Amino acid sequence: MNFAVIGAGAAGCAATYTLSKNGHRVQVFDGADAVGGRTRHIQREGFSLPSGALFLMEGLYPRATALIEEMGRRRELIPWGGETQLIDEGGRRYAVNFVRMMTYLSLPVLTFADKLRLLMTGAKLMLSPSPKNPFDGADLAPFDKGDNVEAWARSNLGDRGFDYIIRPMMDFLTAAPSRELATAFPLAMVKNALKIKLSVPPQGMGQICDWMIAASPGAKLHLSTPVERVERQGSGYRVVTKAGEVHDVDGVVFATEAFESARLMEGFLPQAPADKLVHLRYGKYATVSLAYKRNPWPDFPADMVLPAGKQISINCLILNSRRQPGSVPPGGELVTIYFTSPFLETMSDEDIRRESIEAVTRVFGPAPEPDFVHLFVYPRGISYSSPGTYARMDSVHGELPPGIRLAGDYFANNSVETAISSGERAGQALHRFSQVKAIAGQ
Ligand SMILES: Cc1cc2nc3c(=O)[nH]c(=O)nc-3n(C[C@H](O)[C@H](O)[C@H](O)COP(=O)(O)OP(=O)(O)OC[C@H]3O[C@@H](n4cnc5c(N)ncnc54)[C@H](O)[C@@H]3O)c2cc1C
Repeated sequence: MNFAVIGAGAAGCAATYTLSKNGHRVQVFDGADAVGGRTRHIQREGFSLPSGALFLMEGLYPRATALIEEMGRRRELIPWGGETQLIDEGGRRYAVNFVRMMTYLSLPVLTFADKLRLLMTGAKLMLSPSPKNPFDGADLAPFDKGDNVEAWARSNLGDRGFDYIIRPMMDFLTAAPSRELATAFPLAMVKNALKIKLSVPPQGMGQICDWMIAASPGAKLHLSTPVERVERQGSGYRVVTKAGEVHDVDGVVFATEAFESARLMEGFLPQAPADKLVHLRYGKYATVSLAYKRNPWPDFPADMVLPAGKQISINCLILNSRRQPGSVPPGGELVTIYFTSPFLETMSDEDIRRESIEAVTRVFGPAPEPDFVHLFVYPRGISYSSPGTYARMDSVHGELPPGIRLAGDYFANNSVETAISSGERAGQALHRFSQVKAIAGQ
């Protein structure tokens, strides 16, 4: 059959790969001039700048890992240590490993009572049932009891447990305020933390999308081709691009942001799913790259720094020569800085740039001016998994017209695993749809 996929981020590429693998022709549309969406890297003066995603969590990304394995690419992944320094408002620094929970227990700011509380809560968690996959909304929904991360953590782990462990980790992983997030995701992460191994494709996370498209012989890419709307056409659908081209297809995977998918389907999407997609909360997001042709801090003892204690606008600073060696020219360094959503709402690009430059010297030490600073700003770039969101979004699948599927990270948590698993599922659902139609002789 002939299908369309709108959006060539990780979700759309996984849908394309799955449909193509099952023998379908796929027309893939993206408004950008390359595939990858928020996993894309931009090349500038010998540096490869990440616009978003940084690493895979093998062990916790079952579908992403399985597809990479199936494409014969797993051995290309570069492991990453994720050695971390926490720094608080007093400038005190603490060495931990981002994904090894036990390393946080040695934090000197924690009292004996704090540590006991952490261990007891951890033990209780280990003994309680939990979602199989922290990046799957359907798995998370039954464990979302309506409480929020900050309230849960402060009452179960204490203020220091929240300020030095849960918040730094959650700010970095979600870029959204913990008081607005459901607990199911962090609890599943903590419970499964021992399984996590961080890794990066040699050319950055966007390379996974390149791999998926290269492994999709049935796909025809339409880049720099934003879609304007989709209409019903006979028993199928008509995709209308902004430039006015039309493409008639048997079914469509919408793999854009939730609100954009709803807009594209205006006219035939029932009210109930439309409301859920339009009202899903999104926050502003910014990533800043500071490029140094000569590395000012070759001996810095960690790969990344997370602000702890009092919350500030920045949630992480990463030294990319350690994470992805090929992303910097020899002898250079690239720092990427990540901001937390609510602070950004009142910040101009100039504020973001100034705060980034100040933070770099405060955190890593004195340095000359960077050779250049590059900003990626997404006005609505991060969806919030607030209490109730997993179940609400999961219910949308059952409310879609025949031949229409949705994919995107907003079905669970902003992650390549959620995007890929939702794209794969959308592709599988349209493949089943084609089989039913074939049996019915349509
Ligand atoms: C700063 C940052 C850091 C992150 N770090 C990590 C990480 O380390 N690990 C991890 O797993 N995840 C990380 N994530 C999350 C991860 O990047 C995303 O969850 C994932 O890339 C989302 O994929 P997607 O396909 O759902 O959406 P997107 O990547 O946003 O793709 C949507 C695509 O749709 C296209 N589009 C939109 N409207 C139209 C239209 N009308 N017509 C045609 N095309 C359209 C867009 O151009 C885009 O390419 C991070 C995200 C950000 C922002």
